[in-house]
Amino acid sequence: MKIFCIGRNYSDHAKEMNAEVPVSPIFFMKPDTALHKESEFYIPKFTTDLHYECEIVVRIDRVGKNIGENFARKYYSEIGLGIDFTARDLQQQCKEKGLPWEIAKSWENSAPIGNHWFKTSELNMDNIQFHLEKNGATVQKGSSAEMIFSIDRIIAYLSQFSTLKVGDLIYTGTPAGVGPVNVGDELVGYLENKEMYRLKIK
Ligand code: ZN
Repeated sequence: MKIFCIGRNYSDHAKEMNAEVPVSPIFFMKPDTALHKESEFYIPKFTTDLHYECEIVVRIDRVGKNIGENFARKYYSEIGLGIDFTARDLQQQCKEKGLPWEIAKSWENSAPIGNHWFKTSELNMDNIQFHLEKNGATVQKGSSAEMIFSIDRIIAYLSQFSTLKVGDLIYTGTPAGVGPVNVGDELVGYLENKEMYRLKIK
């Protein structure tokens, strides 16, 4: 399986990163070794500025390529919540040098994923509410309504470049409020007020 991640899909987050709002989706990938399902997360030694990015995750459940946006709904039926962990210090160096982002984004365990999946039929897909708490305080809050590129548009776009396969995941971008995590922090992600994951930072 493969993991796609969408960058700058919420204008308030693009703004906080001093980045332009994109005219077409920006994507990068993580390997399957990035997936992290445990409740304990160990900060890797190569970063001193690890940031959380809470994101709605779509699981593909049908093989497709060159999928029309109008048909994209047929290619997924489950929605989860994850974190696109980012070594912000390394990402900044990549940006300055015009280098790819993999060392900042695609390392082992950089993609925590919750163990609960909602059926799309259980959700109002145009307004999926989610939020992230750090040590009990809400630090990020978003809705699929605020996405610059909808899930269906993202699927149509990605499938031009790569065949989507059963089990592939798409991290759909993060709203404003990204920030650092340190040893001792606890992150809890909620989708429609259901706890989706709880991570103790070690
Ligand atoms: Zn992200």
